[in-house]
Amino acid sequence: MEHRVIDNLIEVKEKIEKTATKCGRSPDDIKLVAVSKMVGVEKIKEAISAGVTILGENYLQEAKGKIEEVGKSVQWHMIGHLQTNKVKQAIELFDLIQSVDRLSLAQEIHKRAKSLDKRVRILVQVNISEEDTKSGIERESAVSLISEIARLTNISIEGLMTIPPYLLDPQKVRPYFKSLRELGEEIERRGFENTSMKELSMGMSNDFEVAIEEGATIVRVGTAIFGERG
Ligand SMILES: *Cc1c(COP(=O)(O)O)cnc(C)c1O
Repeated sequence: MEHRVIDNLIEVKEKIEKTATKCGRSPDDIKLVAVSKMVGVEKIKEAISAGVTILGENYLQEAKGKIEEVGKSVQWHMIGHLQTNKVKQAIELFDLIQSVDRLSLAQEIHKRAKSLDKRVRILVQVNISEEDTKSGIERESAVSLISEIARLTNISIEGLMTIPPYLLDPQKVRPYFKSLRELGEEIERRGFENTSMKELSMGMSNDFEVAIEEGATIVRVGTAIFGERG
């Protein structure tokens, strides 16, 4: 039998609290993004009633319908691959774009943001494991990409995001989380304009506790809240 969203959410929040406390962090410093791709509006509303305040979506078209129906009483984060021709809509719909992985995309965001006279908050997505299948900028090119995005005045870079390889044993994912944190520290030291490394978005249903131990400030949890997709 599938658990109710509210029970799942309580369980996830307890784990976040326990893990944070155990490693001397404040649970308030960890934001939970409930990943609602392929999840219907009914369940999303259930999650919001149960206390979810940030939702993460992967596909613009799917997200658009849901955001129009559910509304903006919660925050919406874009966590999937974003096509340049969807930027105009994306910056109107989302509060944070976590998946910026190339200069051309950032330039388009800057251009559109400028015409709306706003500043768009982004994270830079890094392919920390260098798997060909994963999107994200390669680790060794990340500093250079960020130095270029930092010049775009209508963008505020707020941190890094990664999707590590899926491994059954979450301990095996730890080195990737550590590597993202160290990259963030390196970028912080460089002191780029319009850039802070306050957010590290890493950790999903299977490994968010390890991610928190390694410094995650945003965890993106789908299955553990909404159940298996599809
Ligand atoms: C689907 C997805 C998640 C959530 O994954 P779960 O294993 O269901 O928790 C998190 N981040 C991204 C980028 C995703 O695409």
